[in-house]
Amino acid sequence: MPTPFPSRQAAPTRRSGAANANPTTAYWRCTRCDKLLGVCRDGRMHLRFARGHEYLVGFPVQATCRGCGTLNHATAPAR
Ligand SMILES: [Zn+2]
Repeated sequence: MPTPFPSRQAAPTRRSGAANANPTTAYWRCTRCDKLLGVCRDGRMHLRFARGHEYLVGFPVQATCRGCGTLNHATAPAR
């Protein structure tokens, strides 16, 4: 089942600075099933869960995959 995350990323830049239109953004995916776990931006991991719960956390971060239950680790922002 595809995650609803990518479609919500299509919104145009909310920041006013055009020079900063594309900040460092990387997708964090499950190492086993490739499900999207979170989005790393500006050096922090943005985790989004059902019902609108969102968390912005620092590194290192660990999270279990909703799809397969694998515990994933991210020790530093991906470039
Ligand atoms: Zn998984």
